[in-house]
Amino acid sequence: MSKKNKITRRDFINGTLMAAGAYMLPFGCTSDAVLAALEPSYYPPALTGLRGSQPGSNIHAHSRAWGNKSDWGPTTNLKEEYDLIVVGGGISGLSAAYFFQKEHGKDKKVLILDNHDDFGGHARRNEHMINGDLRLTNGGSQTFVSPHARSELVLTLLKEIGIDLDQFKTAYDVNFYKRNKLGAITYFNKQMFGEDKVVKHPYCNYPWWVEGLPRPEISHEEAVQQAPLSEKGKEQLLRVLNGGLHVLDVPREELEDYIYSRSYFDYLKTNLRVDDPGVLEMARTSCSDWAGGGADVLSIGEAIDCGALGFDPVPTWKDLMGEEAFQTEVREHGNLFAEEDPYIHHFPDGNATIARMLVKKMIPNVGTGDNAKEIVTSKFNYAELDKSSNVVQIRLNSTVVNVKHGSDPNSSSDVFVNYINDNTSYQVKAKGVVMACYNRMIPHIVSDLPKEQDAALRRSVKIPLQYTTVGLKNWRAIKEIEMGMAMSPGNMHQVVMMDFPVSMGGYEFTKTPNDPCAIQMIACPFGDFAGTPPIEQFREARYRMINLQLEDYENEVRAHLSGMLPKGLFEFDRDVESITVNRWAHGYVYSGSRLYDSDLRGMAKIGRQPFGRITIANIDSAPSSYAHAAIKQAWRAVKELG
Ligand SMILES: Cc1cc2nc3c(=O)[nH]c(=O)nc-3n(C[C@H](O)[C@H](O)[C@H](O)COP(=O)(O)OP(=O)(O)OC[C@H]3O[C@@H](n4cnc5c(N)ncnc54)[C@H](O)[C@@H]3O)c2cc1C
Repeated sequence: MSKKNKITRRDFINGTLMAAGAYMLPFGCTSDAVLAALEPSYYPPALTGLRGSQPGSNIHAHSRAWGNKSDWGPTTNLKEEYDLIVVGGGISGLSAAYFFQKEHGKDKKVLILDNHDDFGGHARRNEHMINGDLRLTNGGSQTFVSPHARSELVLTLLKEIGIDLDQFKTAYDVNFYKRNKLGAITYFNKQMFGEDKVVKHPYCNYPWWVEGLPRPEISHEEAVQQAPLSEKGKEQLLRVLNGGLHVLDVPREELEDYIYSRSYFDYLKTNLRVDDPGVLEMARTSCSDWAGGGADVLSIGEAIDCGALGFDPVPTWKDLMGEEAFQTEVREHGNLFAEEDPYIHHFPDGNATIARMLVKKMIPNVGTGDNAKEIVTSKFNYAELDKSSNVVQIRLNSTVVNVKHGSDPNSSSDVFVNYINDNTSYQVKAKGVVMACYNRMIPHIVSDLPKEQDAALRRSVKIPLQYTTVGLKNWRAIKEIEMGMAMSPGNMHQVVMMDFPVSMGGYEFTKTPNDPCAIQMIACPFGDFAGTPPIEQFREARYRMINLQLEDYENEVRAHLSGMLPKGLFEFDRDVESITVNRWAHGYVYSGSRLYDSDLRGMAKIGRQPFGRITIANIDSAPSSYAHAAIKQAWRAVKELG
């Protein structure tokens, strides 16, 4: 069997095993019956193939939102009553459950419902087993960013659940890249640039958030000469690299306002006279997942923040603001470039450790280990999640389709929640509900919201993102091209990178190029035409992404890695053990900008208002794309319930 078939088959087998238990369930079963019917092998983190929002996970939500479906067949009233039901088992939903018990007592019964087959939402763990060696990585949320700037509330929660952020000072091997001579490079592909070529320079400044990644040894001029561009393209690229705010003819005191109200692509095209398609593609992909989408819809100011082609954020901001103001700004706002708080707070499975510790704290029997260190390699027992004897239960594969007060929302003391599990409709009841799901979905679930709130929630938008993680038997070829990170303009995955060098709790990061490793391939899908408004591009890209099959992704990864890595040293069929494509059709929340959709932050505030015994958490309410904000929204939603 070819390797190609092997990867596909493995995914198929795993997916079938996961579902098998559910099909055998008797109608009207209890959660214990669901668990009893689960295959003992039910362990989602080890699944490869199409993950993230796994195929089928959004079917019922889409039937409700797109088809307005309301007839789900006979509904079984499970006669289960909870003090709190949480819709959504991401970091926000899990934190809401934790805060609720902390506020009201450890005996308060909580049910968490999530449509995915795993908990954590975006904070997802990927495992790759390579020749008996377990390689961990993040399938979504990556790092706890800038802890120094976070509130006491958030830091206390982390401490209480067993997370010590100081351990990263030694757990993150800051010398890994230098020791192995790995840096930031660019891979130009044959399809777009006429030849497969690697240049040891990233051109843009996106890579510098990775702590320890060395700056290139060659100059801008040398790098430009090596780029497979026409002479005109090379001239334009050099102009961009030597550009900056000094080319704008704007008085200094007006500059900050100006750059946030002018388009980065207009700056490239008008101020720097760039029209070479290769250079524009390099620019468009140069921010990758910093903001999501392409840089064509960013303002100049946002492009600086993201380190887009031609802008180095730290010196540019220091120059604009002055050293002292810059330091105050990054310290207070938790910017990635704050010197005293490097980007090192990455667990081997990313922020999935935060989700796992929250679960472990509330359902102690789920696995061994009492702190983040001890649970790194602990294989959780998913059969423990939804036991009726638990005070907190987590029910996966359960899409909530209706949430309604028992009587007038202003006076009702209970809320009925309907969800679909294995195509069957169930009803449960609670004294209060926290909606920690996607805000845009809420009006379809809570159908009697006040009009203004309903309309505001419908404006919430998500950015599609894709993190593909690849299990490699060795990284000799990566070492050969000295790749810590490869910018990859013109590819589906705009960035390929070694995983973060973190060893913790007995888990050792890959040691030598002969050892197995997991790499990350990051895709921020966007629309076909640069300059199309962001929301339209997100929609177009989202549909394209979810309509691709595993084979399409495998072909893409095959072509990308085979084109970039030296033949002989790398053979896809020989060296790739596993591929996990984490597709987040509903990824980062989009918060708009001065150029587009500038009212979205206001909409989030209106949308997140409490409604009777129903309150709203989730990152979309912030709107922000950081775990600490998801936790803060959970706290607010719990306090609003009273
Ligand atoms: C690829 C990616 C990388 C990221 N990287 C970082 C990072 O490095 N650092 C960082 O701080 N943040 C990162 N983020 C941002 C991340 O969104 C937040 O940090 C945080 O994890 C969001 O948590 P949440 O609980 O608010 O939302 P989510 O994680 O989205 O959880 C919401 C859950 O509700 C479920 N749900 C939705 N509708 C229903 C329904 N009807 N019924 C039942 N369940 C439902 C969803 O499926 C989901 O599981 C990243 C996000 C993505 C997509």
